[in-house]
Amino acid sequence: MTQRYSVISNPHLEGIQVPERTLETGDALGVLTGRQFHVCGDIVLGALPYVDPHAGGVFVTGAYGPSRVQRLRRQFPTVPFMLEPRSLSEYRANEDAPFLIDIGDNELFPATLDAALDKQRLDMGSDLAITPTGQFRTGDTDTVRKALEEVNALDRKDVLFAAAFEGGWLNDEQNVKFIRSVINRSNHPVLLSFVGTANPMGGKKRIRAYRRIMEESTRPVVAYRTDMAGFDARALGAIASAIGALPSARRLTPPGSGGSPDDPTDLAPHELIGDMLRFVRSKEMRRRWFAEAEPILCFCVVCRGRSIDRFTHLEADRREGHLHTVAELTRMHSSTIGMTQLELKAHWGNLVRGALDAYEQLEEHIGVQLGRPNDLQVWAEGIA
Ligand SMILES: [Zn+2]
Repeated sequence: MTQRYSVISNPHLEGIQVPERTLETGDALGVLTGRQFHVCGDIVLGALPYVDPHAGGVFVTGAYGPSRVQRLRRQFPTVPFMLEPRSLSEYRANEDAPFLIDIGDNELFPATLDAALDKQRLDMGSDLAITPTGQFRTGDTDTVRKALEEVNALDRKDVLFAAAFEGGWLNDEQNVKFIRSVINRSNHPVLLSFVGTANPMGGKKRIRAYRRIMEESTRPVVAYRTDMAGFDARALGAIASAIGALPSARRLTPPGSGGSPDDPTDLAPHELIGDMLRFVRSKEMRRRWFAEAEPILCFCVVCRGRSIDRFTHLEADRREGHLHTVAELTRMHSSTIGMTQLELKAHWGNLVRGALDAYEQLEEHIGVQLGRPNDLQVWAEGIA
């Protein structure tokens, strides 16, 4: 096989030929099975050439989503597009109104959940409908139960139950069990995501709790708006994952917080280095990793042999860095096509071992000791 990067290598990332398939529009399980999803806002127009036409799909965020999907649909007819309702980032659910029903001004029919879902499918061109759920406050089990009850009353197979929990839910074992029970009682696949001003899954305790939910869920669940935890979730049994092309799409932020980056002064992009299973800021690479050593070269279709730390805060660079990430996710998924659940689990274990090894290769090259991220440490516990 050819290596993606100079200096480091994770030998388990070998892509295979992706079989052709048609788009199972309107069939949630059909669309979700076997695909890797990307969460994209403005970048969606540029990202599509790097999305696998038969094993990829896109969740589109933002107010311009519908018009963009209309433009892209003709050019990429086999790629599923789902439009994320604005409630997920702009609304807090409460027991009286767990959903933000938003069907426009000129509707002649009542503002029901069913009508809101029809609008997404028929007017906006979404291949599946997503419940316009608000974010669930930590411990607010009554509101979650109310939402689940309404979702379970829907008699249609094109629905995804969007369930966005504040990160604090993961701190408490009872709340973790509750989330799992909600997934297991849902008649529709659950889009599970977490909310935080910083990474809602930054600490080891929360990462372990998230893994338990994925491992012990018996109904279809999608790891939504996540990072490499999405691949771990797949290995633990999630039906699919949807990973953000840029940091703001790898989690949800509370309504009104503006979705600002972790460090507003640092707009240089985070790139995915698949061989290490991590996203890393180009600024950190320039300052810490390659201050004294030659930078890693990336041979993906976007970078074409240029250095991986070249991206600056300038818009064109940020965009290119995010496109590298989309291409890298597509490569990672292609190495899993056709695997059984057991094979996928074993493959993930190999990827984790390969990533630990890639850290050592990099340390040797740069002569600097690097810490291992919390998530990689927890995944390594899982394969020990
Ligand atoms: Zn690249």
